[in-house]
Amino acid sequence: MRIVLLGPPGSGKGTQAALLVERLKIPHISTGALLRNAAKRGTELGLRAKALTDKGELVPDSVISDMIEERLSREDVAKGFILDGYPRNIAQAKSLEILLERLNKPVDEAILIDIDAELIIKRIAKRAQEEGRDDDTEETVRNRLRVYTEQTAPVADFYAKRGLLTRVLGEGNKDEIFQRILSILNLGAMTA
Ligand code: AMP
Repeated sequence: MRIVLLGPPGSGKGTQAALLVERLKIPHISTGALLRNAAKRGTELGLRAKALTDKGELVPDSVISDMIEERLSREDVAKGFILDGYPRNIAQAKSLEILLERLNKPVDEAILIDIDAELIIKRIAKRAQEEGRDDDTEETVRNRLRVYTEQTAPVADFYAKRGLLTRVLGEGNKDEIFQRILSILNLGAMTA
């Protein structure tokens, strides 16, 4: 099962990805987490990226595509993967499509978590307290939402045109949203 999770910052992609990992036993690949790890380790790439992520700007496509190619070439993706935070613009969606064609692992499902901006601001403020992410300040969040609308939202259409997109209502608690996702994946209300 090869899944792309789409949705604005704060829509709960990371939370849903973690629940899916538990259920499907396939890796969760988050480009944001890979970048935060690189910054924590103090690598040159990580530090350069941090200057952009702290402002809510996207990191250059070339950096991300090298990172994602390396990650998708590992053996643990044999049974599938959950992509979270990637692709983030149309250029990335196209390069992912080419890469996955080459690896013979096309995307099976793109799931868009739909949620309105008001709820997002509230959720991100909560996450800022819980996780202490440096890019969860109000100004950065606003910028991340703008970048999402301009660059990432069109990625949903990219998958819709290929008949791969399903939208899920992102309101409610995490278990309700998870059940909606499971039904899209035809996994119904199985118990854990
Ligand atoms: P996320 O954890 O997905 O919210 O990502 C946090 C930040 O990392 C984003 O605001 C971007 O600055 C950067 N980032 C994550 N994924 C990508 C990507 N696919 N392309 C460009 N920048 C990214």
